[in-house]
Amino acid sequence: MLHLDRKFIWHPFAQAKTAYPPLLIKSGKGIYLYDDEGKEYLDMISSWWVNLHGHAHPKIIKALHEQASTLEHVVFSNFTHEPAIKLSEQLIENLGPPFSKIFFSDNGSTAVEVALKLAYQYWLNIGNRERTHFLAFKGGYHGDTFGAMAVGKMTGYFRQFHNLLFKVDFIDAADTWIDREDQPEAEQKALDKLDKLLDEIGKNTAALIVEPLVLGAGGMRCHRPRFLDEVVKKCREHGILIIFDEVMTGFGRTGKMFAFEHIASRPDLICLSKGLTAGFLPMSVTAVTSEIWEAFYDDHFIKGFAHGHSFTANPLGCAVALASLEVFKKEHVLQKLEIINKWYRDNLPLLLAHPKIDAIRLQGTILAFYMKKRIKDLESPVSKKIQQTLFKRGLILEPLGRTIYLMPPYCVEQQHVKQTIETVLDII
Ligand SMILES: *Cc1c(COP(=O)(O)O)cnc(C)c1O
Repeated sequence: MLHLDRKFIWHPFAQAKTAYPPLLIKSGKGIYLYDDEGKEYLDMISSWWVNLHGHAHPKIIKALHEQASTLEHVVFSNFTHEPAIKLSEQLIENLGPPFSKIFFSDNGSTAVEVALKLAYQYWLNIGNRERTHFLAFKGGYHGDTFGAMAVGKMTGYFRQFHNLLFKVDFIDAADTWIDREDQPEAEQKALDKLDKLLDEIGKNTAALIVEPLVLGAGGMRCHRPRFLDEVVKKCREHGILIIFDEVMTGFGRTGKMFAFEHIASRPDLICLSKGLTAGFLPMSVTAVTSEIWEAFYDDHFIKGFAHGHSFTANPLGCAVALASLEVFKKEHVLQKLEIINKWYRDNLPLLLAHPKIDAIRLQGTILAFYMKKRIKDLESPVSKKIQQTLFKRGLILEPLGRTIYLMPPYCVEQQHVKQTIETVLDII
């Protein structure tokens, strides 16, 4: 199989020539993945942040099976179906005010493209032709398509394409970690810089896009809720729309259903994907307020939003997303999130005492820290080697350069957390 893989497949995010051969995974159950020889791996990154309730959750399988035998797909323009209608209703209920409409697409990047395009066209639709720029966090990541690359430019992943990207201004992220001593100063400095920037470009800015509380692919960099609240407040004073990219933070990762629940302000648009289908199928939504919706509601086609994808609102995706929300309720998942956070905190003394790690971040079900060893490059041979060593010991983690992080599915148990932290520290 691996021979055929090498012969026919171009894997994502990899330089095939120098990459280690991929793990051949055959099945999954709960927090475990199994390779073709039956070796067991702890999936401590939720299969790149998509899995919520463990692999092969029976209730979700059942919903998928039932939906597949009823209706697998129908085009979503001029047609509709019950799974999409019910899911939209439940998402709006879960999100709460001020959200009022759901626009479907099929992955995190497209959910971001939709949000950026909606924000841009919103201003045109209401007759303002000056708001053409975007504002984003330094080190924020929003996907790999062109709009998403533009607002995620400062991650450094897209250097080859910089000439093709539209103009974006960037804000300092004022990172937080346990025991950071100059936190208030760092935040004040970032806010002062933002004030100056907004005086210059505020009236030309269509929207701010930000991953609330945790910049994920940029290295699990966290900021404090009060800092985010201040940033949002300042942008609002300049009339700027707010987009929260909760593709990763949504559905419980930060300890609440959505990261915005940790702050007072609310965005105008929100992007959800990864956990939306509990890791079963690719799907995403962009939810908006009625203010955005009304700017597009018009007699003229040109003022509508001419955007869609072949698999928009796929019924299978909607059915499993509904089943996942059901699991949240029936299995009291939100309470479990607090317990996972407590297990992390129990291990803090061990982490704080370790000489080779620093900048420990803790947010809900996410635990992250830096290896002190200087590793700049995402494809660094050192972090790749660490990963291979972890695999050998039955642990699936994905170091982001020098950041090691845990983001397990919510079926994780105390012993898994302990085992992971001990193994990681041992290997470092
Ligand atoms: C993963 C991610 C995306 C992109 O989602 P894809 O489904 O991989 O296109 C966008 N924003 C954030 C915050 C993400 O973590």
